[in-house]
Amino acid sequence: MDDQDSYFMKEAIKEATKAQGLNEVPIGAVIVYEGKIISRAYNLREREQNSLAHAELLAIDKACRVQGSWRLEDTTLYVTLEPCPMCSGAIILSRVKRVVYGASDPKGGCAGTLMNLLEDPRFNHQCEVVKGVLESECSELLSDFFRKIRERKRQEKKLRQAEGFTEINSE
Ligand SMILES: [Zn+2]
Repeated sequence: MDDQDSYFMKEAIKEATKAQGLNEVPIGAVIVYEGKIISRAYNLREREQNSLAHAELLAIDKACRVQGSWRLEDTTLYVTLEPCPMCSGAIILSRVKRVVYGASDPKGGCAGTLMNLLEDPRFNHQCEVVKGVLESECSELLSDFFRKIRERKRQEKKLRQAEGFTEINSE
């Protein structure tokens, strides 16, 4: 990890925060080429009702349009959460040079946790992986988000119970 990696990870965190503002799971990504961000995106799965709308895929889509090429050679993709199998596949196929991620994903991570698709020598392209950059910020964003959802559900349940109680009483 170097200063540049943490600088760009902060930009990915900014994207994740935008997702959070839309009640999406806060995951953000940026793609960097020659020291510049050429694409930024965040998870939009709920809003789009589309399982493909992961931050990494949306960022790759934009980057390909910016570069006018499906080959994203010499780019680095920064993402707040370890890529899933789908995004890892897209990363390999678009020949991203380097992936830097924040938090590991024990339930879906395919960049070293459950498996390592990005560095598997059997594929015709391998991608360098750097993990754990600003890990605590990235994972706190996610744990805060899920804690708030649980709290909201608890409150809604309480409210429903209270409403049920008044209905019974008013009969
Ligand atoms: Zn994904």
